[in-house]
Amino acid sequence: MKSHYRVVVIGGGVVGTSVLYHLAKSGWKDVLLIERKVLTAGSSWHAAGGIHALNADPNIAALQAYTIDLLPEIEKESGQSIGLHMTGGMTLAGTPDRWEWLQSAYRTFQSIGIDDCRLITPEEAGELCPIMSINGILGGMWADREGYVDTTGTVQAYAGAAKKHGAEIVENNRVLALNQTANGWEVVTEMGIIQTEHVVNAAGLWAKQVGRMAGVELPVSPLNHHYLISDTIPELEKLDFEVPMTVDLEGFTYMRQDQKGILLGIYEVDHEHWMVDGAPWEYGFELQQEDTDRIEKELILGFERYPALQNVGVKTWVNGAFTFSPDGNPLVGPVQGKPGYWCACAVMAGFLQGGGVGKSLAEWMIHGEPEADVFGMDVSRFGDFAQNKRFIKETTGQFYSRRFIMTYPNEQLPAGRPLKMAPSYSDMTAAGCRWGTTYGLEVPLYFAPEGFVEKPSLRRSNSFDIVAEESRTVREDVGLLDISGFSRFEVTGDGAEAWLNHIMASKLPSTGRARLAPMLSDEGKLKGDLTVFNWSAGTWWIMGSYYLRDWHKRWFVDHMLEGVDFRDVSDAIVGFSLSGPNSTKVLECVTNGPVNLPFMGCGTMDVGLIRAKVGRLSVTGELGYEIHCNAVEHIGLRKQLLAAGADLGIKEVGFNALLSLRLEKSFGIWNAEFTQGYTPAETGMGRWIDWTKDSFVGRDAAIAERDGNGPAKRLVTLEVSADGADASGYEPVWTGDKMVGFVTSGGYGHTMGKSYAMALVDTELAAEGTDLSVHIVGVERAAKVIAPSPYDPTGKAMRN
Ligand SMILES: Cc1cc2nc3c(=O)[nH]c(=O)nc-3n(C[C@H](O)[C@H](O)[C@H](O)COP(=O)(O)OP(=O)(O)OC[C@H]3O[C@@H](n4cnc5c(N)ncnc54)[C@H](O)[C@@H]3O)c2cc1C
Repeated sequence: MKSHYRVVVIGGGVVGTSVLYHLAKSGWKDVLLIERKVLTAGSSWHAAGGIHALNADPNIAALQAYTIDLLPEIEKESGQSIGLHMTGGMTLAGTPDRWEWLQSAYRTFQSIGIDDCRLITPEEAGELCPIMSINGILGGMWADREGYVDTTGTVQAYAGAAKKHGAEIVENNRVLALNQTANGWEVVTEMGIIQTEHVVNAAGLWAKQVGRMAGVELPVSPLNHHYLISDTIPELEKLDFEVPMTVDLEGFTYMRQDQKGILLGIYEVDHEHWMVDGAPWEYGFELQQEDTDRIEKELILGFERYPALQNVGVKTWVNGAFTFSPDGNPLVGPVQGKPGYWCACAVMAGFLQGGGVGKSLAEWMIHGEPEADVFGMDVSRFGDFAQNKRFIKETTGQFYSRRFIMTYPNEQLPAGRPLKMAPSYSDMTAAGCRWGTTYGLEVPLYFAPEGFVEKPSLRRSNSFDIVAEESRTVREDVGLLDISGFSRFEVTGDGAEAWLNHIMASKLPSTGRARLAPMLSDEGKLKGDLTVFNWSAGTWWIMGSYYLRDWHKRWFVDHMLEGVDFRDVSDAIVGFSLSGPNSTKVLECVTNGPVNLPFMGCGTMDVGLIRAKVGRLSVTGELGYEIHCNAVEHIGLRKQLLAAGADLGIKEVGFNALLSLRLEKSFGIWNAEFTQGYTPAETGMGRWIDWTKDSFVGRDAAIAERDGNGPAKRLVTLEVSADGADASGYEPVWTGDKMVGFVTSGGYGHTMGKSYAMALVDTELAAEGTDLSVHIVGVERAAKVIAPSPYDPTGKAMRN
């Protein structure tokens, strides 16, 4: 062990060794992994080693597919057997909704290029796994690239391959402390002190403590998890093939063959946290006592699904812990305010996800950005609020218990809520508001009459008529929407304008104006679809998606220039928007005279008793205003606007209506039409770029794209012949039987009375009038490329 390394990876589980391997393979040779005991001494040694493709986040599913393909490679490179049994795998559905969901999931996989899946009948499932009862099974999805690995062998293979690429590993050496230095980190270990530029927290069960060593409180907690290994099953002995890895979603179990018995793993609905503050340092190769009472219900289902279990004994019980984040996805990436401190933890399925995590983190460290859009596992998707222990317990517990329970797109889950509420929350609740949540904040979805209960559904919700009426209100009268759920950053100081010009690809707005401002990465991919306000006197705002707050903040701080004062005022400033033809009339009832803001104009004015900041912007395509006030004025602002609009048809509306209205205008939104995986030319964002600017982040790449052969895919609007269900995102788009793109988002346009989708499709098929088709909830529907903005294409309503 030397006294200086470029990178020190803390933790020798499957994740740490994968990070080490990817760094060394990519050319960073001066890298060291430190392991407290011996490799695998955390969760990794006792994992079931199962590998299967399903993940609700398509980007993470793609990284899982990468891991599965990598496994034979590391076996070859290291010469270490990983005991790979690529048996193929099945995911089973036992309810009609689940079966529909599985059919949709199958199509999503096609969209993201996972093409080794197929749908199977219960009878086929029974033939593929003869020891399984098909009672209650309605169908399943088969995937070729599923199976299991030997967990210790896999970790050793990553480690061995990393060493072959020049990396070093030191075992039996605990990291005791981390001290930030001018050039990186001082790593205090049992064997001595190391200076390094980068540290990676891959400490698995101990990630919390290794976070605290750097002053970082990570939203992660271990939970216990059971599996059993049966004695030899005579029926299995007779087979000349291995039964596939099988996930019985309604039974809460997964199963794989283990020699001539089976391993049955259980996602306990009655979950149990373990050492919420992190494992004890002395913990190593121990396990927890099995608790068969707690898992009795799932065990009964498992023994019914695999009846042979009723005739053989249990050879081994495993009740071990592994870590979860609040949404179950890993925590990966750089930590804002801690230069050189990287996370690769909370990896719930390390054998399945470890390769993708290692690849993405190594790319991030070496090139500044991962190749794929990994927002779904970016540590910055959680803010300080997620450090709360009760929040962590509730959300990780909810994720664990629901691991195999289906969550419908319109379903709202209760854990960790309500946490953050805008001041009008109680008044709005009394007015019938139904809430969703983003980044811990309650946001209005729609307003329903007392007693209304929304039914979870893959199809159009029973709130359809309510949302239709709210949409009509906006189009014909005026809707009031709580817009507290946006991020707002105040930028001042001598260097403010220069800095904004540097990070935004657009022209900056002149005084008293707002402007849509795309932000790009160095590689010319999208980094934000923000709005910049120039309030005059050197005060600027950047406004964006509330849930991207920390993600954007990290970017801003990383690209900061001298002379800039920058404040996140997202929780201090809240507001309401007025939207609809009567907006100006309502606003003028509470202002001192006419409101003379032009479209995209902004200014400070009296609104009733409040000194508010008002912008004339429109996400709905109607005449509209965004009115920003201090949090303490939120209740008053709402009351005054509702009173002012009483005779002008004002009604409160929620974001579900907004999503429908914006779709009718073909206005894209982040995480659908715009992501860090897409470029300005693909998404049409290029029209907001100021090509005359001498420099801005991402300029060279954006110019290269502009002057190149054009993007392979383009964003289009589709009119879909849907019936009872609309597209939601990632559905494949076809011409004949050739897949030519995928849906970015979709929904019903209540004004136009049609179903729409936005989609990225092959450029040669992006012309208006092109006939395509799209799968919606598993059923193929005709779709046609139409001109953008089916509602009011000239934008007259919002500019009036
Ligand atoms: C019962 C069970 C079944 C599972 N089945 C599967 C499955 O089928 N498929 C799958 O993909 N996943 C499965 N998992 C999950 C899998 O085990 C984890 O996702 C994976 O092991 C996480 O790996 P890791 O490297 O992040 O953490 P760990 O394996 O916990 O490794 C962290 C390492 O860091 C070391 N360390 C910690 N602190 C320090 C320090 N201060 N100094 C030096 N070293 C330190 C520890 O000693 C440890 O070796 C299962 C888990 C359990 C419990």
